[in-house]
Amino acid sequence: KFDKDFGQHILKNPGISDAIVEKAYLKPTDVVLEVGPGTGNITVRALEKCKKLIAVELDPRMGAEVTKRVQGTPLAKKLEIILGDVIKMPELPPCDALISNTPYQISSPLIFKMLAMPNPPRVAVLMFQREFAKRLVAKPGDALYSRLSVNVNFWATCKHIMKVGKQNFKPPPKVESDVVRIEPHIGSARPNIAFEEFDGLLRIAFNRKNKTLRASFAPKEILSLCERNYKVYCALNNIPIGESAAEGAIDDEIMDVDADMDVDGNDDDVQIDDAEEEDEEEDMPTFFKEANDTKDEKTPSRNPKSKVAVVVRAKINKILESTDLADKRSRQCDQNDFLRLLLAFHEEGIHFA
Ligand code: SAM
Repeated sequence: KFDKDFGQHILKNPGISDAIVEKAYLKPTDVVLEVGPGTGNITVRALEKCKKLIAVELDPRMGAEVTKRVQGTPLAKKLEIILGDVIKMPELPPCDALISNTPYQISSPLIFKMLAMPNPPRVAVLMFQREFAKRLVAKPGDALYSRLSVNVNFWATCKHIMKVGKQNFKPPPKVESDVVRIEPHIGSARPNIAFEEFDGLLRIAFNRKNKTLRASFAPKEILSLCERNYKVYCALNNIPIGESAAEGAIDDEIMDVDADMDVDGNDDDVQIDDAEEEDEEEDMPTFFKEANDTKDEKTPSRNPKSKVAVVVRAKINKILESTDLADKRSRQCDQNDFLRLLLAFHEEGIHFA
């Protein structure tokens, strides 16, 4: 009996299990991580081609099933089963390849977990629901372009491998699936940037991807985040804050800057896909949600801000203007725009993680 809540759709077409393993181009020296082995259809094929396979499975009944399947065969000693929720593991086990007929409810967190690894696997061959797979390969301007698309294409290359109809599973899922091959940039090819920094910037930018970046950075909660991180940066680097001549000169601008903060980018002409926006915000930290709730506030705040807040707001405005990105919307920006923006923020001592 399968448990729907665990996303248990077992592959019943052996040709597809073969293709998933084949597209990973496993080497005999490889350590493979499989998420959700289920009854072991992909597992046994991968075990034949690698040195060791670590399978993380949430359902102990399935764990027992795979163990039974390889018992008494030479494959048994290559298999390690970890029972538990892969998303709750502090880190994914180190591996050369990741394979999974991914339980649909962990698609997004699994990809983020893999991309955030300092030493990610060489290759990941993953089956996803079609809509999710399309988000992975979406390009700037596409309706499905999102924070996920930018991250995947920044930290890796992603290719569509094949379409898989729902009749290939037992029980059949509601929607069609796709297999993708992701090759993370590894070693010296990995960008020399903290994952949390790049993703932190994207969280702000894609909180409302149809808004201009000026509007994305306008909410006071975003300013507070930048201000907090700027203070830490200054403390760590022994930089006195709020004391330089340039900073003193902007004292008079306090009220103007406050008014700027509420500019909302004149987006009335843009259709926002609510379902997708909800999806984007799924794993937003609380303060972003709060930022969102205040998005339609039109009345400028007249509360004077702290000197540091004014300095940081001026830096943000300067960076957005000097990179020529203030009037661009996130859905139109490519990964190079975001990288340029992040480096400009870092140059000014503003961080996002
Ligand atoms: N690999 C098998 C196949 O292709 O036939 C089963 C794939 S089935 C779509 C997903 C599997 O992931 C199920 O065995 C399910 O119990 C397991 N699973 C679901 N959520 C999980 C989680 N958070 N961590 C680890 N395994 C999980």
